[in-house]
Amino acid sequence: MDSVSFPYDAPVSQTLFDRASLVTPGGVNSPVRAFRAVGGTPRFMVSGTGPYLTDADGREYVDLVCSWGPMILGHSHPAVIEAVQAAVARGTSFGTPGEGEVALAEEIVARVEPVEQVRLVSSGTEATMSAIRLARGFTGRPKIIKFAGCYHGHVDALLAAAGSGVATFGLPDTPGVTGAQAGDTIVLPYNDLEAVHAAFHANAGQIACVITEASPGNMGVVPPRPGFNEGLKAACAQNGALYISDEVMTGFRTSKAGWYGVDGVAPDLMTFGKVMGGGFPAAAFGGRKDVMAHLAPAGPVYQAGTLSGNPVATAAGLAQLRLLDDAAYEKVNAVSKEIQALLTDALTKEGVAHRLQTASNMFSVFFTPTDVRDYEDAKKQEAFRFNAFFHSMLSQGVYLPPSAFESWFVSTAHDERAIERIAAALPAAARAAAEATA
Ligand SMILES: *Cc1c(COP(=O)(O)O)cnc(C)c1O
Repeated sequence: MDSVSFPYDAPVSQTLFDRASLVTPGGVNSPVRAFRAVGGTPRFMVSGTGPYLTDADGREYVDLVCSWGPMILGHSHPAVIEAVQAAVARGTSFGTPGEGEVALAEEIVARVEPVEQVRLVSSGTEATMSAIRLARGFTGRPKIIKFAGCYHGHVDALLAAAGSGVATFGLPDTPGVTGAQAGDTIVLPYNDLEAVHAAFHANAGQIACVITEASPGNMGVVPPRPGFNEGLKAACAQNGALYISDEVMTGFRTSKAGWYGVDGVAPDLMTFGKVMGGGFPAAAFGGRKDVMAHLAPAGPVYQAGTLSGNPVATAAGLAQLRLLDDAAYEKVNAVSKEIQALLTDALTKEGVAHRLQTASNMFSVFFTPTDVRDYEDAKKQEAFRFNAFFHSMLSQGVYLPPSAFESWFVSTAHDERAIERIAAALPAAARAAAEATA
């Protein structure tokens, strides 16, 4: 990290960060927002419009994080803002059923064929936590299988070998999670069907579900090998376990029907978040009707939420989803391809060993000469090159995820001007990556 220079400082952000650090652990409300892995001062953003964010020091950035995925239409999309303002004017929370949550559930069911019924919650973490409880309640079995490098929110049982912040900071097993909470979690290498078959064999009749990111983006982008998701589904079916596809990141981003729309492998249960909330806390889990029927009040598995189906959040999510038609996905995919090409070009010109990995319009770059198929491969990359690259881009007004283990996200709002700014910044950033030393 010593080789990384911070080309300019951010005095207002620094002052805010100092204040934040006094009242909040590490100065942030979610670990990856801090610049711990890349060094420097996290930028405090004050506004966002289209593909741009403006920080507290008045600098504008092309945003390639998009709030970690949700802002697929760009920031402050007029139709989303209008829907939110109209909803707010009617009141912010009733603690009763409302039409907005029905309409959002109908939209999800209409888009994603395997989802016959859906329950709305407020975060992706709640969605995966509830889906696992439901799987255990439905099957009457205790154990679950997850994959190293996959992140499913900060659910106790799912933090073992998780991606995202856990990967970014190289954290060991998380303190605060007891052996009892994690003991029923079997962690396997991603993309390894043999390991899955072996685990089912060794734990016959014990495994409630396999949960996997539909296409992982929380250890960087590591798509499933051909046949992997199909193999998971088959192994689950054979062994009486449920196949849970976590589409919190990929849902309504990688296609109209998320990753299911790409690979067509129908899960028993699915989880959603990010894009479906339109920038508000709205998430969901859903799937087979006979499984969902076990959920309270229809069935015995308890699950609830004071703000679940919140009218403002559901209005934002619904407005966003309704704008996400085929043309919108074509646009996001085209933008993504353009940036991918510029990125590979710049790194290749500077002779930087790298792998650009993609999953529809999600992509990330690994600073390594070999393909990344699992978490062990991902950890072999030269993350110090990313840190130099990151700070060069930041100094030139391009905001990347502050971690080498995260997907980059684009939106329909990334226009020629935004892409030109990225293109202009890449050569110096690629040079900084080439010259970086550990
Ligand atoms: C972001 C994410 C989560 C957690 O969602 P939160 O809303 O942050 O709780 C779960 N699973 C995946 C795949 C994610 O990307």
